[in-house]
Amino acid sequence: MDNKLNTKIKELFAKGEITLAIGYEKGTKGVRPFFCRKEEDVDRMVFSNDYLPNLAVYLTKKELVAGEKVAVACTISALRSIAFLFRENQIGQDQFKILHLSPNDEYMVFLKPMDIDVYIDHIPSVPSEKDKKIIDMLDAMTPKERWAWWSAQFSKCIKCYACRAACPMCYCTRCIVDNNRPQWIEPWAAPLSNMEWQISRVMHLAGRCVGCGACGEACPEGIPVHLLNRKLLGNIEEDFGVKAGAAPKNGVVLNTFNPDDKENFIR
Ligand code: SF4
Ligand code: SF4
Repeated sequence: MDNKLNTKIKELFAKGEITLAIGYEKGTKGVRPFFCRKEEDVDRMVFSNDYLPNLAVYLTKKELVAGEKVAVACTISALRSIAFLFRENQIGQDQFKILHLSPNDEYMVFLKPMDIDVYIDHIPSVPSEKDKKIIDMLDAMTPKERWAWWSAQFSKCIKCYACRAACPMCYCTRCIVDNNRPQWIEPWAAPLSNMEWQISRVMHLAGRCVGCGACGEACPEGIPVHLLNRKLLGNIEEDFGVKAGAAPKNGVVLNTFNPDDKENFIR
């Protein structure tokens, strides 16, 4: 499909500046990731800022990107994720060509990771209409009702970890749930260990989740796991004044230790 993004990717291939372009192509159901290695295949690439999965997830996959010169077609959510991966030293400043088509398809931008914060600063992260309905329903519940609702959702979890695999911010080489010496969380699906897994996931992503929704989209059981993360995003904005994916002024929220903190429990 012809668009400003594809024109740029073709130009990069023609000049030998890239060997791999990561984007989207049409699949049997919606869109799917496309790993393009030839200029003549670029026309298969499609783009919209609503697309999932979040392609930033591939940038930390050494088996895919090591030794390659990579361009990646980024949605706003992917840009937010890349800004975080850069801040957390997971990707280098010159490693990737970060391309983005503006939400109205009018202009294409070509960013360095360090410049993304400025570009996304004025773009709010808003939930979809479908998500808003669930959020409103949950907000209207008592804490006891909410606990029962989430417990019922998590009882469907089969511990496939598709949510983890879809998340650009879940890049640990060994996840806490895979650790068996000591084993923190039982590996089989059961009410208690499912709850432990979900709470661990949410807490590890608190202040780092960019609200892309890729984890919920990936869940084969239809559990809206991304909404728990979104709830925390709201809390973090309220309590610390930090928006989803935005650059925190004083270190990453909940990942930064200040010896002058008043909380005695962390001393
Ligand atoms: S936790 Fe879910 S919504 Fe948040 S960044 Fe990861 S995939 Fe996106
Ligand atoms: S994708 Fe869904 S079923 Fe799989 S581990 Fe995550 S929450 Fe559980």
